Amino acid sequence: MRRLLITIDGPAGAGKTTVSRMLAHRLAYKYIDTGALYRGVAFAAISAGLNADDDEGLEKLCRTLKIKFVTGDQGLRILSNGVDITDKIRTPEITMFASAVSARPVVRGYLLDLQREMGQEKGVVFEGRDMGTVVFPDADLKFYLDASHKTRSLRRYQELTAKTQQTLEEVERDMAKRDKNDSTRDLAPLKPAKDAIIIDSTELSVKAVVELMLSKIDEFI
Ligand code: C5P
Repeated sequence: MRRLLITIDGPAGAGKTTVSRMLAHRLAYKYIDTGALYRGVAFAAISAGLNADDDEGLEKLCRTLKIKFVTGDQGLRILSNGVDITDKIRTPEITMFASAVSARPVVRGYLLDLQREMGQEKGVVFEGRDMGTVVFPDADLKFYLDASHKTRSLRRYQELTAKTQQTLEEVERDMAKRDKNDSTRDLAPLKPAKDAIIIDSTELSVKAVVELMLSKIDEFI
């Protein structure tokens, strides 16, 4: 059967990661979490003591930074210059720093090339913010997954309680700030591609969203 390049964009907490993983699994496709790439750059920048707006420092950093995904016994892992950083990039500090560095052209340029390289092989689900608009404007099928702010905050809070001490109010505040950063930046702002299929997951289970996507993929093929 024809193998596709599928993009899933949308704001934090809309369910992109769970849905993308499940969809890729059902299709026996690869799954690429591009947010993890921005988090990887943020992690390296913080480790190097850089500020999020230090374009010169970020450019130097990106020139030697080698970020890649590997699949091992523990599932999908992300390596930065050979070091496994998968468990270190989900902190609130990295989350906010990733959002800040993602507005810098030098970082987006570096990751644009890397993502397009990863997209050369078909049979992939790419998850992010600008997959359908900027990185893969010619993707076979584009989805934009959304949900109400309240639902997204609550989901993110439930996901984070095991790992951090953040209150629901703090999660809501961070999410509102990140939504604003991501959707108002000049470069590759978060928005649905003109030809994206928009799905509101506020009232839908993960399984229902995946089934809906599979039916759209069936129609397309
Ligand atoms: O998806 P995740 O929450 O891990 O992404 C972290 C941050 O990386 C986002 O808030 C956004 O600023 C940035 N990002 C982006 N473009 C992408 C993926 C993520 O700007 N394609």
